Amino acid sequence: MKEFTIVGGGIAGASIAYHLAKKGHSVTVFDRFDQGQATFASAGIICPWTSQRRNKKWYRLVQEGARYYPAFINELERTTNQPTGYKQNGAICLFKDDRIQQLAYERISAKQADSPEMGSVTKMSKEDVKAMHPFLTDYYPAVFVEGGGQIDGESLLTSLKKGVLAHGGKWLTDDVDPSDCEGTVIYTAGAWAREFHDQPAVRHQRAELLHFQLDKDANSADTPVVMGLGPMYIVGTGADNSFAIGTTHEKTEAFSVTPSQENKAYLHHEAERYFPDVAIDDHHVSVGLRPFTRDSLPFIGYNDDNIYVVNGLGSTGLTAGPVIGREVADFLSGEDTSLDLADYGYYE
Ligand SMILES: Cc1cc2nc3c(=O)[nH]c(=O)nc-3n(C[C@H](O)[C@H](O)[C@H](O)COP(=O)(O)OP(=O)(O)OC[C@H]3O[C@@H](n4cnc5c(N)ncnc54)[C@H](O)[C@@H]3O)c2cc1C
Repeated sequence: MKEFTIVGGGIAGASIAYHLAKKGHSVTVFDRFDQGQATFASAGIICPWTSQRRNKKWYRLVQEGARYYPAFINELERTTNQPTGYKQNGAICLFKDDRIQQLAYERISAKQADSPEMGSVTKMSKEDVKAMHPFLTDYYPAVFVEGGGQIDGESLLTSLKKGVLAHGGKWLTDDVDPSDCEGTVIYTAGAWAREFHDQPAVRHQRAELLHFQLDKDANSADTPVVMGLGPMYIVGTGADNSFAIGTTHEKTEAFSVTPSQENKAYLHHEAERYFPDVAIDDHHVSVGLRPFTRDSLPFIGYNDDNIYVVNGLGSTGLTAGPVIGREVADFLSGEDTSLDLADYGYYE
């Protein structure tokens, strides 16, 4: 049994802590739960196969992440008796016109052989879209990916914390300097990493999500996630016809989480575009600080001070977080890993 201290309790730290504690190690998590914690603010879409990003190392990580999700959630929920909000209602991906839809269909379905967990991939006419998501615009054709899923970041963290405690670990709401900690130190501080370490260089983006309600019965608990045009997406956030649309992407040095009125107006306008025939009642804007590292590829490895750093999970951190926890716990226990973690320890 080894001793581990984890500084930062977002998805990266919580998942690593859970997997280490499960193996019987002594684990202590320190998390000060900063406003803007990315995991708490996340939209939680688990659908890596539709991305056009070509980075192979990134794709291996998120592909394995999505593959691991159902078994991971099943075990976590059984251990903790705590729901995580995970659902796999599929993903509707909208495209500008029939030509782009066809190209996207070919690109996405080409990934199926290597990723059977993505389920069926089908082209949807505008009428099909209407039938599946009645108040969504029928202006665009779509591709449906059956295995697309969604997780609630807040519930997942609650469940992981319970899991850490259930396996004998400790979770403390404290602000600590990683160099003052005992045992092997794992630094998972998200956007706040630069407070103690310059390398790997972590930057962050401010991302806003507008939460709103439709004044029609839209069954938001069970609708698929919607990947809109460009970076826009829409997720159901529970009962009462509640949805969230996002996000904005703003590179910044600041840590402010005060919503911007300008961005709120922009997101409201986007919501009207996707739900043209329904009144939209704005609730609130949530703001998260998304951590990035070089090439937007997560960093997983030791820094110069011999501290094990996991950071830069970027816009797919909830997808990759659970499998990173599994892999890092195997690696730090001296066991074989499924992914080659050297791919992510690119620090020089
Ligand atoms: C609006 C938004 C939407 C997103 N949507 C998706 C999505 O649809 N799908 C997806 O896969 N990903 C999504 N992401 C990305 C994902 O949320 C992030 O990549 C992920 O949550 C990052 O996790 P993390 O643990 O590295 O950082 P965080 O979740 O930010 O956690 C870092 C924690 O470390 C703590 N900390 C820092 N320093 C210290 C210290 N010295 N002592 C104690 N505690 C400390 C902080 O308080 C914080 O709680 C989204 C992100 C945002 C912001």
